[in-house]
Amino acid sequence: MKAKLNGDAFDVVVVGFGLAGAVAAIEAHDAGAKVLLLEKEPFPGGISICAGGGARIAGDADKAFAYLKESCKGTTPDAVLRVLAEGAVELTDYVKGLAAAVGATAKTQNVRGNYALPGYETWGYVEVCNVPGFDPAVEYPHTRAEGEVNGRKMFKVVHEHIKRRGIPVRLGSPVDRLWFENGEIRGVRCGGEAISARRGIVLACGGFEASDELQRQFWPTPPMRPVATFGNTGDGIQMAQEAGAGLWHLWHLHGVYGFHHPDAAFKLGIRIRRMRNWIAGTPSNRQDMMSWIIVDQRAKRYMNEYEPYMQDTNHRPMALYDPMTRTYPRIPSLLIVDAKGRELYTLCEPSYNDPDIAARFGKHSLRDFDDAVLTTRPSLDGIAEEFGLDAGALASTVSEWNIACAAGSDREFGRPPASMMPIVEPPFSAARVWPVVSNTQGGLPHDEHQRVLNSYGEPIPRLYVAGELGSVFGHLYFSGANYSECLVGGKIAGIHAANLKPSRA
Ligand SMILES: Cc1cc2nc3c(=O)[nH]c(=O)nc-3n(C[C@H](O)[C@H](O)[C@H](O)COP(=O)(O)OP(=O)(O)OC[C@H]3O[C@@H](n4cnc5c(N)ncnc54)[C@H](O)[C@@H]3O)c2cc1C
Repeated sequence: MKAKLNGDAFDVVVVGFGLAGAVAAIEAHDAGAKVLLLEKEPFPGGISICAGGGARIAGDADKAFAYLKESCKGTTPDAVLRVLAEGAVELTDYVKGLAAAVGATAKTQNVRGNYALPGYETWGYVEVCNVPGFDPAVEYPHTRAEGEVNGRKMFKVVHEHIKRRGIPVRLGSPVDRLWFENGEIRGVRCGGEAISARRGIVLACGGFEASDELQRQFWPTPPMRPVATFGNTGDGIQMAQEAGAGLWHLWHLHGVYGFHHPDAAFKLGIRIRRMRNWIAGTPSNRQDMMSWIIVDQRAKRYMNEYEPYMQDTNHRPMALYDPMTRTYPRIPSLLIVDAKGRELYTLCEPSYNDPDIAARFGKHSLRDFDDAVLTTRPSLDGIAEEFGLDAGALASTVSEWNIACAAGSDREFGRPPASMMPIVEPPFSAARVWPVVSNTQGGLPHDEHQRVLNSYGEPIPRLYVAGELGSVFGHLYFSGANYSECLVGGKIAGIHAANLKPSRA
């Protein structure tokens, strides 16, 4: 297909209107560039708008660097982690500044890193907590976020900055490919049109949580459902490959176990209720009471259902492949809860940025989601029969669990004692659970200026990456750090691209 050159020439074209793309566009504009923001979906926000909203901040750059280095275990260059550590120190002022400029307020809190790694004490969060007059149900009716919901406030703040600067945004404009001339990147191709970017292109078009194909190629498990949007299909990975881009840690994803809604119209995964994070090996941890256990297809428990940062790592134990049966005996698994547990709280934590799902499920309460997803029977035998499990095996698993609860110790899997709740009171409820993916943590390698690196580690001229598409986390993620890399990396990419000498128009 021959693309038609668009009359407008831009300095910087940003692909993807989530948090990283918005920040890159704002910063490129403020550095004097003529910017265009292209978004695939007819609505903005990506998965950023569904996020809890906390971005990691740090008090001390050296400690932050030490923590990041240990988190990444050699998968990411020091120079890249160093700028993220330094950026995290400056992030409080940056976010407070962005918020204040549009009449909003941001707050901070000290919260240590999720793991007792060097420097974990230096971390905290910054989040936008108040945007006067902002009603997400009115402004972003296509979205839903449960629990902490400050992601929509953060997105509203950057969205407001885009509007106030008059940065042109084209929604419903999927970028298909980069546009090359004489072997050089000159812009992007979007729906049969070539759009010129004289200085640079920032790819901020998210990860591949909605691409079954990429997941099948790069993950050891069958494809997982995304939990927020369908737009992030790894397009940036594909586009940058044409320019010779390398790849890094594609295996790493942020996910947990969750539900599939029985109504086929709800095609996303639904995350399990989030429990308070805790830090293994340190005193004064507080955990929540967890009402459920998880069993495999032989009705056996096989994991600590409440790992320190369960929303991140608790999908991992499900990946076991059995070569004898050539199956994944833990996918799906079964969640079991009793009547008392169901009274305690609801289990589904749906989120979405999708108008069709919003139209159909927007009025569904959390209880409605639970009622749709969970099956209730008067006895455990009834649960076993419903889900095709061995009734004796299930009875003995639950009985062993109840004995462990009475003893206050899960010797086999190390579930935190404070979270242990017996499963005794009928009726019993159960639901199949699958690994579900919140976001991916691998993709395009980049340097400290966010320039995409080719497969030899050299920067590809005029090509930048920001946010999830170039996430630095190649071993162990920690909560709130994706937002930090959107903010820090988006800013660096936008400014660096804007300061390049323009190519011939
Ligand atoms: C439920 C949930 C809660 C989370 N909570 C937190 C949290 O509290 N703190 C935190 O740090 N992280 C959190 N995360 C992770 C975090 O939200 C993401 O890592 C981050 O927001 C990704 O931002 P992004 O700008 O890179 O991508 P996105 O926000 O997903 O934006 C990418 C955009 O690119 C668009 N796009 C894709 N392909 C193309 C194309 N070809 N052309 C044009 N546009 C394209 C997409 O439609 C999308 O709008 C959470 C994730 C989920 C799912």
